[in-house]
Amino acid sequence: MHHFAYKNGSLHCEEVNLSDIAEAYGTPTFVYSKRTILEDLDEFKHAFAAIDAHIAFAVKACSNGAILQLMAQRGCGFDIVSGGELWRVIRAGGNPALCTYAGVAKTEPEIRYAISSGIYCFICESENELREIDRIAAEMGSVAPVAVRVNPNVDAHTHKYITTGTNENKFGIDISRIESLYADIATQMHHLRIRGLQMHIGSQLTEVTPFVMAVEKVAPIVARFKETYGIEFWSIGGGIGIVYDGCLDSGKKEWWDSHPEQITIKSYAKALIPLLKPLGLRILLEPGRRLVGNAAVMLTRCIYEKKGEAKTFKMIDAGMNDIIRPALYEGFHEIHPVREHPAGELIVADVVGPICESGDFQAQNRSLPDVKPGELLAEMSAGAYGFSMSSNYNSRPLAAEVLVDGSSFSLIRRRQTLESLVSDEVLPNS
Ligand SMILES: *Cc1c(COP(=O)(O)O)cnc(C)c1O
Repeated sequence: MHHFAYKNGSLHCEEVNLSDIAEAYGTPTFVYSKRTILEDLDEFKHAFAAIDAHIAFAVKACSNGAILQLMAQRGCGFDIVSGGELWRVIRAGGNPALCTYAGVAKTEPEIRYAISSGIYCFICESENELREIDRIAAEMGSVAPVAVRVNPNVDAHTHKYITTGTNENKFGIDISRIESLYADIATQMHHLRIRGLQMHIGSQLTEVTPFVMAVEKVAPIVARFKETYGIEFWSIGGGIGIVYDGCLDSGKKEWWDSHPEQITIKSYAKALIPLLKPLGLRILLEPGRRLVGNAAVMLTRCIYEKKGEAKTFKMIDAGMNDIIRPALYEGFHEIHPVREHPAGELIVADVVGPICESGDFQAQNRSLPDVKPGELLAEMSAGAYGFSMSSNYNSRPLAAEVLVDGSSFSLIRRRQTLESLVSDEVLPNS
């Protein structure tokens, strides 16, 4: 459940009218609901109370320092995939000793930084990476905690760009080779300490079944590793899906009652706890999208409309540089006018941005109210892989970000200035 809803004819985030935020900070602006994030954190906590489970928030989904700080203050750990993310977490007050560091191509400076910061564990994806961390740890006179990402070869039934747990992906070590690899680590890599095992089968999974299949497949190996190497944790990754199509309605309880098939934190926990509890290990959960995805919208303004031969276009002031998901993996975002329109009067249009690419659309052939130039729109479910994937393409300054807390709101990222857009560039001959 999230806290975006129409009140008195205008779309609100919690108790704040979104048009007030647009007036204060302009568009495009990402608007996050603190209450939504905190409630979801609580839901994880309660759903997994029966086992020793900890959250390692996947920073790549949303890396704004204010959001990381919020999670750190609630005791969350973090799943990071670069030295830059580790730096952000530490800056926001996060504890490196609660950080797992994943990713297939960690560099030597990143590995050194992570060892000297005292991270909880490296999540390794290849034998050569393990040998490199072993070598670097030896040079530093240290012993690095490691876990390997096992690829359980389970199809997550999600988009091909975000499925990661089959043997055709670049991620992890095939399940058939994991035991001999752990034996090699134990006997040959003296500056590594085997601390756990990890898996992550994909993103935006909307059913529980693939998670259950993967956990069932890997659990016996985890039990053997606990016996043999004394591992202390199993990270079962992230990947819980959110509501994109139906997002606005999913802010109401009735929507959930009529969509019992949609994965929830509760149904995920209920299916997995019986399989995890007997292991008697610390379980790490790495949700990214599920914690922040439905907790934000991107506010944008309709600039022009154009009626072509075949199509109607609504041009907005946000582009694929602000939210790349539709262009990158056919991501779907609901788009609603901030001023409530009468029910039922819909047109079909493409909602497109200012970028010089045909792929620069936020919606195609979409039924929506006939919004006019000047009107504010909210692109829903924009909290995960939204701002964090944005870029300066077409020399567009990065959007602003705002955090709503009840009836107040505060800026958590200023809109980028043109000066800062070029501040790292070097002009020769000047
Ligand atoms: C991206 C990622 C996650 C988070 O995935 P979500 O689908 O956002 O929950 C978790 N773990 C790892 C290793 C990842 O790469």
